[in-house]
Amino acid sequence: MKKVCFSFVMMVIALIVAGCGAEDTGTSEDGEGLKIVTSFSILGDVLENIAGERSSVTYIVPIGEEPHEYEPVPSDFQAVSDADVFYVNGLGLEEWLQRLVENTSDVDVVEVSPTIDALPLEESDGLDPHAWLDVKNVMKYVEVIRDDLVERDPDGAEIYVANAEAYLQDLQELEDWIHDQVTTIPEEQRTIVISENAYRYFGEAYGFDTVGIWELNSHEEGTPGQISRVVDIVKELDLPAVFVETTVNKSFMTTVSNDSGVDIAGEVYTDAVGLEGSGAETYIDMMKHNVDTFVSGLSQ
Ligand SMILES: [Zn+2]
Repeated sequence: MKKVCFSFVMMVIALIVAGCGAEDTGTSEDGEGLKIVTSFSILGDVLENIAGERSSVTYIVPIGEEPHEYEPVPSDFQAVSDADVFYVNGLGLEEWLQRLVENTSDVDVVEVSPTIDALPLEESDGLDPHAWLDVKNVMKYVEVIRDDLVERDPDGAEIYVANAEAYLQDLQELEDWIHDQVTTIPEEQRTIVISENAYRYFGEAYGFDTVGIWELNSHEEGTPGQISRVVDIVKELDLPAVFVETTVNKSFMTTVSNDSGVDIAGEVYTDAVGLEGSGAETYIDMMKHNVDTFVSGLSQ
């Protein structure tokens, strides 16, 4: 008799717990969220943080390829056609965007960068798209995305707002951590030499000069003139290290390294997060990896 009572009580508790759970999670598992597509993996991670519980998030440019001159494949056209919204970086990053959206059914294309104080390119017309390498700019992206999602999917507002707030806190911690870390690098050695001059926003935010072999990956040439210019700078500044990106042909920086006698101190993530198992699968982890790499290379 006692046993039956106990089972009954347990059953009631289980029902209450199950009831509460269903209420708490709301509509997240009912397929009521949005189908979100974004252009590249870094934005994919940012969106996953804000919307992942409620909406599906996919991105177009695979990790390992750079997002400037990507060639869309048939499944990309399909993914964008099926989406409720397509978030892009803007600032000229997605040079393939026009071609993609011209060949898909109507989808809302939303740029996440309208509130960014964009840097003009130095060697050509246009803007430098690499705003995400300054954490404060990603915080601006988050606010734009959050507000757009809330308007687009009001039933998910609570989730989007809460997630955005938590993520903004994580980003603020990352921002503070970076400022702390860079102080360990001697001031005269705070110059980042890299293939694509993509760290200008990073440099302005955290106090580095930056030198690239070329300005944008879509202008990639690696001519002897470009290489010898960088070699001269490395020697003149007596820098202890140069760096290379995960998404570029490394042979150009290898030549710089050989010609200057300065080692490539490591690989950094610029235009994509890391692959599974890299330890840099998220925007926050990729930035930590980059800063660790700069600190250990330039503090020598
Ligand atoms: Zn780039």
